[in-house]
Amino acid sequence: MVRVRFAPSPTGYLHLGGARTAIFNWLFARHHGGRFILRIEDTDRSRSTQESIQEILEAMRWLGLDWDEGPYRQTERMEIYRREVQKLLEEGKAYYCYCTPEELEERRKKALEEGRMPKYDGRCRERRGPREGVNPVVRLKVDQEGETVIQDLIKGEVVYPNSQLDDFILLRSDGTPTYNFVVVVDDALMGITHVIRGDDHLNNTPKQIQLYRALGYEPPRFAHVPMILGPDRARLSKRHGATSVLAYREDGYLPEALFNFLVRLGWSHGDQEIFSREELIRYFSLEHVGKSPAVYNPDKLLWLNAHYIKTGDTQRLARLLTPFLSKEGLIQEGEEPDPDWLCRVVETLKERARTLKEMAQMAAFYFREPQGYDPKGEKKFLKPQVLPYLEGLVQELEALEDFSEGEIEEAFNRVIARFNIKLKHLAQPCRVALTGKTVSPGIYEIISVMGKEKALSRLKKAIQHVRKKERSEALSH
Ligand code: GLU
Repeated sequence: MVRVRFAPSPTGYLHLGGARTAIFNWLFARHHGGRFILRIEDTDRSRSTQESIQEILEAMRWLGLDWDEGPYRQTERMEIYRREVQKLLEEGKAYYCYCTPEELEERRKKALEEGRMPKYDGRCRERRGPREGVNPVVRLKVDQEGETVIQDLIKGEVVYPNSQLDDFILLRSDGTPTYNFVVVVDDALMGITHVIRGDDHLNNTPKQIQLYRALGYEPPRFAHVPMILGPDRARLSKRHGATSVLAYREDGYLPEALFNFLVRLGWSHGDQEIFSREELIRYFSLEHVGKSPAVYNPDKLLWLNAHYIKTGDTQRLARLLTPFLSKEGLIQEGEEPDPDWLCRVVETLKERARTLKEMAQMAAFYFREPQGYDPKGEKKFLKPQVLPYLEGLVQELEALEDFSEGEIEEAFNRVIARFNIKLKHLAQPCRVALTGKTVSPGIYEIISVMGKEKALSRLKKAIQHVRKKERSEALSH
């Protein structure tokens, strides 16, 4: 039975790299009908925070990454770690080291000066009894002969000469355990079969394998996933994407778009780009995770998000849109526009909005009058010649009982026929009058969704505006 884990350190947000690791583990578990375990690696008490834990859990829920066990917290497992250290000490596989940080630093400097690799020289291995006034650390007796071979499921065979390793610390002098120690104890005791994680941990793996052996546990299989690079092929930075997963929610991305995007950063299935969750579960395998780093492409994320908005369920989009409307100041906070009406609004915008934020901005004209007209649009379309057309339209619309798209279209057709003009000669002035802009969704739909009252009042306002302009121009000549 496959058992995998996601093991974030709660020292900040869940960022894109972490989320992708979580997704790969989750998909691997779901594909194999295994278990996905969540473990919070919070032994670094000075950097771990409760807010960070909450943030990580919320981001995982938002992405739909449900876990089968946990969240375990390492700070609640201290007894277990102490017991395991005790076992190693008793078996002579670990020892107390009384070298002080100052002494270690001095030796490190000397090694560098002499061109040697700085590493702990093992001098406390044979030491008997404590040293006055020094709190010891506990170190593992590492086998420095031969080599450690990792059969990595992504990288292939990776060989480390053990001479590069030193007797690394298991317990610090304040008694807290180190990452390399607890990660092995937990993975072993939690029965983890596959460790799937970022390749920034590859260098830790030979140490961890030695520790498995010392503890008498079978090491799991390892799969080290290459980094995500920024568009400039440097490390992914805050500027592009190292930000939190939840920041993408704030910016109006849908979780399924970000999920799809992250999976494709490193994994592929032919040249398919868009995957349902079921397809991902069916197709996911570590064999198709690439060996080289993936490059973050924000345009692709936008493209995917646009796709999921376009094809998304309108009622759900309307619900998700509401907070963005209030952020844009279009409704009061906590206010709920009529759901059926909001669905109609969304229907007119989902074809073109790439994010929910964009959709809210595009929806502005449904909620408030144009705050001034687009200057080019006004110059081109709101001029005295169009007054009769707009007045004709007002008359026609006023007479409508049924304010449906179909009826509105027929009203337009009557005006067009009466003045013998083309649709654009009426539609463009009308669009500027209603939305302030020269581009909008289809004119009949927006009029219908806007409703009779708003549409007529804005048309009349525009008519007055043109008349006033005409008068003041006449006066100045
Ligand atoms: N807590 C470690 C991290 O966040 C997990 C490393 C691992 O997966 O072993 O980087």
